[in-house]
Amino acid sequence: MNPRNNHRLILFPHPFQGHMNSMSQLGQILYARGFSITIVHTNFNVPDPSSHPHFTFRSIADGIDQSEASTLGTRGLIALLDVRCAVPFEECLREMVSSQGGDAAPIACLIADSLFSFTCSVAQRLKVHALVLRTGGAVYLYVATIFPVLKEKGYIPVLGSQSEEAVKEFPPLLVKDIPAVDPQKPEVIFRILDNLIAVTRDSSGVIINTFDGLEHSDLASLREVFSVPFFPIGPSHKFCVTSPSSSSQEEDRKCISWLDKQPPKSVIYVSFGSLAAVSEAEMLEIALGLADSEQPFLWVVRPGSVRDPEWLEKSPSHFLWALEGRGKIVKWAPQKEVLAHPAVGAFWTHSGWNSTLESISEGVPMLCMPRFSDQGVNARYVSDVWRIGVHLNGGLERENIARAVKRLLAEREGEEIRERALVLKEKASVSVRQGGPSYQALDALVSHILSFK
Ligand code: UDP
Repeated sequence: MNPRNNHRLILFPHPFQGHMNSMSQLGQILYARGFSITIVHTNFNVPDPSSHPHFTFRSIADGIDQSEASTLGTRGLIALLDVRCAVPFEECLREMVSSQGGDAAPIACLIADSLFSFTCSVAQRLKVHALVLRTGGAVYLYVATIFPVLKEKGYIPVLGSQSEEAVKEFPPLLVKDIPAVDPQKPEVIFRILDNLIAVTRDSSGVIINTFDGLEHSDLASLREVFSVPFFPIGPSHKFCVTSPSSSSQEEDRKCISWLDKQPPKSVIYVSFGSLAAVSEAEMLEIALGLADSEQPFLWVVRPGSVRDPEWLEKSPSHFLWALEGRGKIVKWAPQKEVLAHPAVGAFWTHSGWNSTLESISEGVPMLCMPRFSDQGVNARYVSDVWRIGVHLNGGLERENIARAVKRLLAEREGEEIRERALVLKEKASVSVRQGGPSYQALDALVSHILSFK
């Protein structure tokens, strides 16, 4: 732990779980480097201050309640949060800027999630330097920069498209990997990506949760497009000594003792992150596919995993618990610890960026089932570029599921994938060691912040 450096950082996370996790990890890292940390958060999905006793917390009123949020879908919620948070955030930052000079360390800069579009212009008005945190990978940000070209060439799919057409200008992407347009609200995805580009361009630098050994060429492309400095400090959770949960869900630690009893590399860990949902029929196929795979499984079924919000409550005595003999079902898992457990042999994931990076960090092969946003691009890189996983081809049906699980856990192909995954795990580990590329990027970030006057 470095001595306190009398500089305060204002961190403004987006309230989606994966984004909150990344920002709180960044807060811990920069606290350890001597900065004081203030988290400004929305009232929607409030972080637990007791997980971070050294941080100061300030809330802003976004006026969004959980029931309103559940009707909007992810994109609708991103758009609404962006509109509702702009004024309260500016008021909060103005108040903090004007009350400087007391006991609290002076503000060195703002670090805001890149999903908020207004933060750099607010900071500029208040004469505060602003960095953005990009919680996703470099390649998706690059895809966002070429989205207008992809549109011009007619590649942008509509929601639900499974087009296998190759994107010739950007191999190995297929049309179905690109973020899709909702025909009901076609402008929304364009606005979200335009905002992402604008806030990146207007920032004083981009902190990005990836590492050079993973995305060297995409980081190079981004540095050509944007004239601001990039700080790839991933996998950022590996810099944190502890990893307190910033989730409102309580982690079920019983699954670790259950894993302790399973043979090495035998378990398929199944989790689709904090947002993705499937239908009841798909849930049944997943359960039956896991049963047919004849492998032990650890499955996260959180409230919200199924589109019918009451499904979990209605079902516990139903087929799910009948599968418990060979599997374990939890509402929320200590995922990083699960992935590091020797019994885990593969991860069936929705290919969210945090999950992907956490899996890479532990050398766990992935079965990819992307649902929306950057997940299609992440999954394509996992299967075709890094070759550390496979897609769930042929749809969410029990035969396909059982087949894919066996491919990863019981066949030679799975072993080859694991060998490649272990090479990448080593690169990730070297990255965060003293002198490694992410370690150096972190040093450069600290110097950059301290250079702000
Ligand atoms: N996560 C967890 N326990 C669970 C499921 C997910 O701790 O049971 C964490 C996971 O480790 C990751 C985050 O939730 O850090 C999910 O982020 P990701 O970017 O993968 O997906 P999103 O939730 O944003 O779709």
